[in-house]
Amino acid sequence: MQELTHFVNGTHEKGTSGRFADVYNPATGEVQAKTPLATKDEVDAIVAKAAEAQVAWAKVNPQRRARVIMKFAALINDNMDKLAELVSREHGKTLPDARGDVQRGLEVVEVCMGAPNMLKGEYTDSAGPGIDLYSMRQPLGVVAGITPFNFPAMIPLWKMAPAIAAGNAMVLKPSERVPSTSLALAELFKEAGLPDGVLQVVNGDKEAVDALLDNETIQAVGFVGSTPIAQYIYGRAANNGKRAQCFGGAKNHMVIMPDADLDKAADALVGAGFGAAGERCMAISVAVPVGEETADRLIEKLIPRVESLKVGPYTAEEEVDFGPVITAAAKDRINGLVNSGVDQGAKLVVDGRDFSLQGYEDGFFVGPSLFDHVTPEMDIYKEEIFGPVLSTVRAGTYDEALDLVMNSPYGNGTAIFTADGDTARDYASRVNVGMVGINFPIPVPLSYYTFGGWKKSAFGDLNQYGPDAFRFYTKTKTVTSRWFSGIKDGGEFNFKAMD
Ligand code: NAD
Repeated sequence: MQELTHFVNGTHEKGTSGRFADVYNPATGEVQAKTPLATKDEVDAIVAKAAEAQVAWAKVNPQRRARVIMKFAALINDNMDKLAELVSREHGKTLPDARGDVQRGLEVVEVCMGAPNMLKGEYTDSAGPGIDLYSMRQPLGVVAGITPFNFPAMIPLWKMAPAIAAGNAMVLKPSERVPSTSLALAELFKEAGLPDGVLQVVNGDKEAVDALLDNETIQAVGFVGSTPIAQYIYGRAANNGKRAQCFGGAKNHMVIMPDADLDKAADALVGAGFGAAGERCMAISVAVPVGEETADRLIEKLIPRVESLKVGPYTAEEEVDFGPVITAAAKDRINGLVNSGVDQGAKLVVDGRDFSLQGYEDGFFVGPSLFDHVTPEMDIYKEEIFGPVLSTVRAGTYDEALDLVMNSPYGNGTAIFTADGDTARDYASRVNVGMVGINFPIPVPLSYYTFGGWKKSAFGDLNQYGPDAFRFYTKTKTVTSRWFSGIKDGGEFNFKAMD
């Protein structure tokens, strides 16, 4: 059994707590490694070492820091297949999807090559007599990243690249379910020239997270995970005087108007609803067809598409659409929610509950389920299922559909499928959700924009990556400078005869 480590000052360091978390192969159900769970003392020691390293790193000029980022990007590209395999092995997603996971993280690294530009300050010449005013962006110091299981490469990269490019040191606490990708990324960052200690990876659970939240050296916390934990972390970090941005769960709706191309809408729904077994914070989990006829036609198109989805391990020779879910507990929870949907009166038109795969009976596979006639009171509507389950809520009118989305407590992403530009513009303008797709099902903005939800999908300020990340990971200092007139006015510049 492989024993994983922390990554401290450029080397792999064994845990000393004697506590470990099992890391599964979700396709087989076997424990393939164990990851150490750090104690408060271990975390504090790791943070102290990061603080030492950060002082010199902040003094490296931004362009030189950007060169390390450039090399890091090149190394990620060179190691794309290896990283994708690591992602799939611990998460279970298919290899093409795992490559996408690495790729969307890499794109944020690429934008961080522009750190010198992002870090420029402002300057007002002659704000008063002899007075100039200027601002500069300075790193915060040591910051923490706490990340979820569902994007083992992308989200750690979203955290580490901007924080480090801005001159901070980062202590990253990846999900204990998928720790290996973060360890591999830390090795590559070192190979790219990152000084030891600037990126530390500490593995752990609540104890390690709480230690980071209470550690006085940590200046900011970037968290991604479920809503209750996001809210908890935001509260504790803010209470301790830290800057915090905590991104939470989601329940993303896609509105399908009667004039939409229903084949395209059905294809989009199947990809966005069931890709990565629905374990994406930007997955579409609720379809909202407008009008009974639209709903009937959409369900008719969805059924064969959902029934023909191929579920299997990432190692399968034939192409599969999605893999297992992350744990046995997640599988039981998802199947339990599907049962509750049936009990509460929704119509289960495709039933994935009894799915089993020959040779992988102990794997955490869940078949795809499709519900029709879901109502907002049902648990399958209220809960973030985070599994391969798509719910259909029928709306009578556009306004009813918009109200449904507006009343959802979550506000991560949403989409509308329509042929009418006026409807699309109205939806994008009025909906209270952070990321909107128009005839586009998973509207994850590109890396030079920013990513962030509204309502209970995010706590704190500023979005992830792009310009907001540089604002989040730096503090602004503003200098008002006055120089009294002196030597210039009073000095004598002409040759004079000596008296
Ligand atoms: P999670 O909240 O269980 O765990 C996230 C992190 O918090 C992990 O590192 C974990 O170790 C830590 N943690 C868990 N319980 C804790 C506790 N009680 N105290 C302190 N720390 C704790 O989330 P997950 O299951 O790993 O990830 C799935 C969730 O993440 C979903 O809800 C999904 O929507 C969300 N997510 C959101 C975004 C976004 O950008 N909004 C992106 C990806 C995933």
